[in-house]
Amino acid sequence: MSATPKPLLPGATLGVLGGGQLGRMFVHVAQRMGYQTAVLDPDAQSPAGLVSHHHICTNYLDPQGLAQLGALCQAVTTEFENVPADALAQLARALPVSPSAHAVAIAQDRAREKAHFVQCGVPVAPHAVIESHDQLALVPDSLLPGILKTSRMGYDGKGQLRVTTREELNAAWAQLGHVACVLEKMLPLAGECSVIVARGRDGSCVHLPVQRNLHRDGILAVTEVWGGNVSAEVAQQAVAAAQAVAQGLDYVGVLCVEFFVLADGALVVNEMAPRPHNSGHYSQDACDVSQFELQVRCMADLPLTQPRQHSPAIMLNLLGDLWFSQPLGADPKGACHGAAASEPPWAQVLALPGTHLHLYGKHEARVGRKMGHLNITAATPQAARTVALQAAALLGVAPF
Ligand code: ADP
Ligand code: MG
Repeated sequence: MSATPKPLLPGATLGVLGGGQLGRMFVHVAQRMGYQTAVLDPDAQSPAGLVSHHHICTNYLDPQGLAQLGALCQAVTTEFENVPADALAQLARALPVSPSAHAVAIAQDRAREKAHFVQCGVPVAPHAVIESHDQLALVPDSLLPGILKTSRMGYDGKGQLRVTTREELNAAWAQLGHVACVLEKMLPLAGECSVIVARGRDGSCVHLPVQRNLHRDGILAVTEVWGGNVSAEVAQQAVAAAQAVAQGLDYVGVLCVEFFVLADGALVVNEMAPRPHNSGHYSQDACDVSQFELQVRCMADLPLTQPRQHSPAIMLNLLGDLWFSQPLGADPKGACHGAAASEPPWAQVLALPGTHLHLYGKHEARVGRKMGHLNITAATPQAARTVALQAAALLGVAPF
């Protein structure tokens, strides 16, 4: 552990690269704590830019934009999966940047990310890196059926193709444009979970409780969190693995590590996100310190205290599909064609006890677009599930 640096106190200006919903929620918390905020995002209507003290509207690598951000801020963080690591490296010459360009560069590349997990002694899915026709030919049959994933720029299931035969694998690599890919063996999943850790510059590390996640079409749909939600053994292993991954990167900031739980109970790491994560949104309403406050504390070198979950919680993701769907199971994609968007029945949803609505201020609903989320807190897991299923039915989210 290194010496504790002097904290940046409220009144200072905190910057964020990327203006999406994660940046918006970061800005809200930073402002609540008395900080000024600056957002750099090329979109004039970005969710975070709309609520920040300052919005620098340039590309991420624009030298003038970066210089302006550096001049305004006393520390900078990032919120977006694919902000160029080089933008962070440039800023780091002038002011503290967390997480580091190095950590972000590893998280942005599936092949490097997997190598890092292996180096930390954390189990990964059997896989092969494919960057050439020779490597493609050498892929062992044991990796099929598998999922071919682009090494870079994938998110929410984009840039992935499922393959069962060698012919399909060859065709899939061509379809992905022969870019660098990782082929992963398809694993029999009993479930998925994730852990959010926050690590300070002094090496102190705290974590949120283990989240159980349900993905649909490669996108997070539901997160459920309460004690006993995953077995004590899995929870303990997942937290230890996430901490090892953070420590191995000498990470500063909030990091989410996602896991597969296999049918035999074994835990396999899937991927990491160098920022707050969709699966941590429940912490806004169910924990005494949210993942966004942890992000503020890390970058400002404030003390990290172990967050406490005070209520069982369920988070429902609100995708743009819901603006086109009818309640109770209409096919949202089918319903979308030619249909006008209509606002979901918020008043009815908010009549249910313990519902907390978070909308990101995006102007247009589109299928698959993350528009917001609904957190449900209750005194017991059963009560949270009952309300969550009622809310899901009202919104047109399939039951879970
Ligand atoms: P993204 O970066 O788009 O989130 P992931 O690699 O996390 O991509 O994959 C998205 C989802 O696809 C996962 O959450 C999981 O449900 C499923 N998936 C991914 N890889 C595997 C695998 N090797 N075996 C089984 N399911 C997988
Ligand atoms: Mg994922």
